Amino acid sequence: MNKFIFVSGGVCSSLGKGVAASSLGALLEGRGLNVRMVKCDPYINVDAGTMSPYQHGEVYVTNDGAETDLDLGNYARFTRGPLSKANSVTTGQVYESVIKKEREGRYLGRCVQVIPHITDEIKARILAVAKEDADTDIVIIEIGGTVGDIESIPFLEAARQLIHESGRGNAISVHLTLIPEVAGGELKTKPTQHSVKAMQEQGIQPDVLICRAPVMLDEPTRRKIALFTNIENDAVFTSYDIDTTIYAIPLIFFDQKVDLVVLKKLGVEARHSDLGQWHAMMERFNSRKGKVRIGVVGKYMELHDSYKSVYEALFHAGLECGVEVELVKIDSARLEEADPAESVLGAKAPGGGVDGVLVPGGFGQRGIKGMVKAASWARNNKVPYFGICLGMQIMVIDWGRNVLGWEDADSTEFNQDSKHPVVSLLEEQESVKNYGGTMRLGAWKSVAQPGSFFSAAYKEKVVSERHRHRYEFANRYRKEMTETGLKIGATTEDGELVECVEWPNHPWGLGVQFHPEFKSKPTAASPLFRDFIAAARDEKQKRL
Ligand code: GLN
Repeated sequence: MNKFIFVSGGVCSSLGKGVAASSLGALLEGRGLNVRMVKCDPYINVDAGTMSPYQHGEVYVTNDGAETDLDLGNYARFTRGPLSKANSVTTGQVYESVIKKEREGRYLGRCVQVIPHITDEIKARILAVAKEDADTDIVIIEIGGTVGDIESIPFLEAARQLIHESGRGNAISVHLTLIPEVAGGELKTKPTQHSVKAMQEQGIQPDVLICRAPVMLDEPTRRKIALFTNIENDAVFTSYDIDTTIYAIPLIFFDQKVDLVVLKKLGVEARHSDLGQWHAMMERFNSRKGKVRIGVVGKYMELHDSYKSVYEALFHAGLECGVEVELVKIDSARLEEADPAESVLGAKAPGGGVDGVLVPGGFGQRGIKGMVKAASWARNNKVPYFGICLGMQIMVIDWGRNVLGWEDADSTEFNQDSKHPVVSLLEEQESVKNYGGTMRLGAWKSVAQPGSFFSAAYKEKVVSERHRHRYEFANRYRKEMTETGLKIGATTEDGELVECVEWPNHPWGLGVQFHPEFKSKPTAASPLFRDFIAAARDEKQKRL
């Protein structure tokens, strides 16, 4: 029998619902249970693929090529269950399939309505994840948005029905709220009381409350909240503000026995808890020595979530290399104006120079010149460089412009008239008209070339990583580029597509066409991120 945990949020957004749901998942896995995570997103987009990183943060990509909400990235970093298209449910998908069925006449003349047809579709998708694998013990379903939002009503109604249909003790509601502090340092519980009332109006009595608060709530406050929300005294927990790392949250929840209370409510016997890997991770966190400054040169710099997985992967790599990674976020447009790049990246830059440069993924022409400048600077000054997707294409453009001397070398994404289109459209992309879900997406295999940084990092010949791009290293320039020294670190299995380029005579300069950040975990950093940070650390050491 499957058990369900519905995680909802109230009072306001950005309380860390995704991290709370993931931390609970990690704790339950620590007790030997098989957990699956599902995100329900109330937006009408079919997937996150068409949303601007400014609007909604990064697009997380799964092995099967789903372009999902960034919360799936949290699930991937905290838990080990597989994630695919099925784990991300949006209003857009639900309506798309209900409307398709209606057009096919499958509702047999009935009037198609939010209840029961939309809610049934939501329930069917959640149940499908539960049934996918016979070993699944618990499914955690995070409902996006805040209770009270018009958009999330069908999802809450589906949750209510599933809780009812599963029978007592087989499905519970975990609700996350905010306990704000007002002038004078007083903590206020009223918004939480209102938030639970809003849940009750939807027909759901939360079983467990997680209160986001500046500090650990004291016993009288917890009792007061429990009394006014109809929740048991021992089921009110605090997710207090921390200045260490979000990866400490599973342990913070463990100390409060969140997992034990949840399992008791679900009628699941609690087995011995093994959180060894989380403790080891915190030990690495606390024993880091020194710092490397990594210049991230991109175009969506104002919003941290735009490059969420990249920043997390840098942090994971720092844990493994024993150093703190300081992010120096540089809008590439700033580099375009700066002359020379040295004034922004070099030792005399305000705040000091960077020990490594990372150019992440991106789309569109804006800021490209600044990224090429950053790559050139790193290449010439032998500063470790890591290019991801667009960042690899930038290396190829730089090589064309600044080593081969083709001033107009470019990607056809940015200049269709270039006489040297060193990066161009994948052939299969030429006829594509729709934007949604049509890139080269998901897991593809790359074969490492012997003697490359790539093969030194992975220590395996064939690796699988996730892609999300339309453009590609143009093969007609392969000969001239490699003859002048640009190295090919990896290709697809048939040798046709270049998956990695590397700089010769350089401490560590590498670009990959895929996104290794999606598979990086705090307990196991991505090998490429790890070697990039190790190179930045070692080169800094040499300079000193
Ligand atoms: N815009 C580039 C392409 O489509 C790079 C994509 C990316 O960085 N994810 O190929």
